[in-house]
Amino acid sequence: MPELRCRICAAAYPIGPLFFGCPACAAQGRKAALEVHYTQPPAKFPDPTKTGIWQWLDLLPCTDGVSLGEGGTPLTLLRPGLYIKNESCNPTWSYKDRAAAVSISMARQFKLPATVAISTGNLGNAVAAYSAAAEMRCTIFCNPDAPELQPALMQLYGARVFRGGNANALVRQYVERGTVFPATICCPLGGFANPYAIEGFKTIAFEIWQQLGRVPDRVFAPAGSGDGLYGIWKGFRELRDFGLTDTVPRMIACQAEGAACYAKALATNASAPVPIRRPRTVALSIAEEYGGYPALTAIRDSDGDAVTTDEEQILWAMGALAAKGIALEPASVTPFAIASALDPQQQDETWVLIGTGSLAKWPPLVTQGFALPNALPPDFDNLDQLM
Ligand SMILES: [Zn+2]
Repeated sequence: MPELRCRICAAAYPIGPLFFGCPACAAQGRKAALEVHYTQPPAKFPDPTKTGIWQWLDLLPCTDGVSLGEGGTPLTLLRPGLYIKNESCNPTWSYKDRAAAVSISMARQFKLPATVAISTGNLGNAVAAYSAAAEMRCTIFCNPDAPELQPALMQLYGARVFRGGNANALVRQYVERGTVFPATICCPLGGFANPYAIEGFKTIAFEIWQQLGRVPDRVFAPAGSGDGLYGIWKGFRELRDFGLTDTVPRMIACQAEGAACYAKALATNASAPVPIRRPRTVALSIAEEYGGYPALTAIRDSDGDAVTTDEEQILWAMGALAAKGIALEPASVTPFAIASALDPQQQDETWVLIGTGSLAKWPPLVTQGFALPNALPPDFDNLDQLM
């Protein structure tokens, strides 16, 4: 049976709507995050009667799922030793669908009628869509820098959307009412977190293990708040802890130079991600002021690293991957930007890049520098010359 367990004092609690960290630690004036812990090995793993993330139900906290067909995304070979997990193939075109599917399933299990999330775009769309599927009220606090297509889509899914403001404090007040599920990604150091989203992200690790037939040597993941990277690490850790694999991959956090909270923490041997006063990068989905403590522990525990790339390289990677048939947003191509200069074969290794979301939700980036196609000429001779 799964339970919630404190990351600091190891106190255990039944699965429930606990969003303000460990009560035992709080009683001693300490902030500590809870996470889902499984006390028994999975029996049916994968479960052949289910699809997508629900094949892994034995290591998920839900009893059943709100589903739009998430998970089961392709693992595509880019060159020998280098694969990309193309998460743009999820229902709202990003890996946040995995987190939203588990979060909204838990909200339904807890009989909470409403959901809320803070988002630059991808998470907001995922939470809005899954809330719609579960017939729940949904409120999204959207980053004002997101292209207008993002809040427009959220509204189309039926969410109430607000732009900008001090969303963290407002969300906390809203959740304290006790009728709202915070389907949001947050840094649990603040004592306020959703422990269930991570369970959705970890299914990426299970799928990679299934698709490769083994655990890769390195996993390159874009990292902002870091819940995605931490979730994938937790998945690999569970595979090892339950004896399904012997090894775990090194987790490589991929960051933009203008938002390098983990790279700076490693460089200065800091115990927490270094806050970035004004994150600046075209990779808006990982332009976070505050990184997550769990992601930093995943990097260190896996003997991993945090690597940065610059704006020029990110835009190059976006075009280079699209030229291979995979159109991903700037944050999602940071792993490719970083790994493309290196050769896994030289080290006799297998690497997997996490392509977290589609470029299609970022219209200004698609059309920037784009020339209108030629008008169709009236006869074939002229057309032949143009072709
Ligand atoms: Zn505790």
